[in-house]
Amino acid sequence: MASSSQVYRSTRSSSKDTKSFEEAVIQGLASDGGLFIPPVIPQVSKDTLFNKWSKLSFQELAFEIMRLYISSSEISDSELKVLVENSYSTFRSSEVTPLAKNITGNKENLHVLELFHGPTYAFKDVALQFVGNLFEFFLQRHNSNLPESEKKKLTVVGATSGDTGSAAIYGLRGKKDVSVFILYPTGRISPIQEEQMTTVEDKNVQTLSVKGTFDNCQDIVKAIFGDKEFNERHNVGAVNSINWARILAQITYYFYSYFKATGGVEGKVKFVVPSGNFGDILAGYFAKQMGLPVEKLVIATNENDILDRFLKTGYYERSDKVAATLSPAMDILISSNFERLLWFLAREYEANNDDIKAGSIVNNWFQQLREQGKFQVDNKIIDGARKDFDSERVSNEETTKTIAEIYERSTNPSKYIIDPHTSVGICAAERIIAKDKDNTIHYISLSTAHPAKFADAVNESLGKFSGYSFEKDVLPLELKKLSTLPKRLKFVERADVELVKASIEEELTKMKL
Ligand SMILES: *Cc1c(COP(=O)(O)O)cnc(C)c1O
Repeated sequence: MASSSQVYRSTRSSSKDTKSFEEAVIQGLASDGGLFIPPVIPQVSKDTLFNKWSKLSFQELAFEIMRLYISSSEISDSELKVLVENSYSTFRSSEVTPLAKNITGNKENLHVLELFHGPTYAFKDVALQFVGNLFEFFLQRHNSNLPESEKKKLTVVGATSGDTGSAAIYGLRGKKDVSVFILYPTGRISPIQEEQMTTVEDKNVQTLSVKGTFDNCQDIVKAIFGDKEFNERHNVGAVNSINWARILAQITYYFYSYFKATGGVEGKVKFVVPSGNFGDILAGYFAKQMGLPVEKLVIATNENDILDRFLKTGYYERSDKVAATLSPAMDILISSNFERLLWFLAREYEANNDDIKAGSIVNNWFQQLREQGKFQVDNKIIDGARKDFDSERVSNEETTKTIAEIYERSTNPSKYIIDPHTSVGICAAERIIAKDKDNTIHYISLSTAHPAKFADAVNESLGKFSGYSFEKDVLPLELKKLSTLPKRLKFVERADVELVKASIEEELTKMKL
């Protein structure tokens, strides 16, 4: 394999500078505002795919894939194996991401890739369990021979509108030399979400319930990142969806589920991915570029449809307002990871495969986005994107309708219950199946959350069926028990940066990490 695939560069950079995997992961966002990408995507032959990789367990496959993106001088084979094993030992399924095959019978070839068997019942666990272990690994190595006073400590600060905070907390709980502070708007997240975040006992975790909105919380986090002095003192870090290690960890399940769907041979496969920040489906793009013969990656969006509009018009344009939908984890104005795809498209179709030119093209686009709220790309670029991607936009009405339809139509297992994000994907998949009329194609629709986490939408769809019960049919015992555990949270009575900073410092002293 080309060793140059193991360095990283920024999507906005027009310099020759590259970073190591460790630097890209610890830094998160590049200093020019761009995202880190591996400019060389490692290639995997069909022989390796269908004679070797198709027979591997999820963990073995994760190791092989990650190995191609991380230099062994940074993380040795044995160290990487331990990181992978530890990261997926917390999952409830031995397959980590099992595939529910042919849920509506053989005619449709509709398979559901269940990504929610991690500790918080959300797809983000697949990446964040790995990222937490990786942070600890790098810090421990750095700190191993240093006296206590010189040890590097990381303070992770993030804001959540509900679902993602718990995946970050469960990824970092108990990790050495890392503390984590998650802000959420008081009274504006669901009881299950609050219970998941506030019942974690580990000393290095602190939730901050802030009297205000999610936007207030996010603004405070941004201000903290911008506060140079606070940052230097506490080494503030992020685990948000732009971290390269998250994308990397997500590549595995595209390979794994492909082999499960086709029986380990080459076949026609389309993936349908409920998308928001474009991190999940971008991992599918990497799998396809590595050589996995995927026909199409289908972007499924809710009413926040910047990606669907881009693919149809070539305009990348921010709307004025986020629509609050039934699939809140996909309620975004801008899909941050889309910038990574744009870099590869710019390089291939406008920059004659020149990394540096690609960086300056992307930099230009994002300057236009900042100044004018939009940019337009050349037809070559959209045509290039359409080779790999298709897109569908799904409304709230269709989301609830699809949850009910799948409950009624599923036979394997019968009365299969999906969450509203998964429903956006399946509704899109059904549309494509009807258009394609080709029963040799396998459709793998990604299921990104357990239905128990979005009780309101699921109950609204299924309440009309006699015999349906949320408690009995949806709620796992483990989540039910959370309501009986003591809650640990710190209340911040005003959405104010100084108050939050003071709370963090007070708690850090108590944590004595
Ligand atoms: C984060 C999330 C998504 C969207 O994934 P992206 O990587 O942001 O596109 C979809 N569904 C659920 C439940 C999520 O938590």
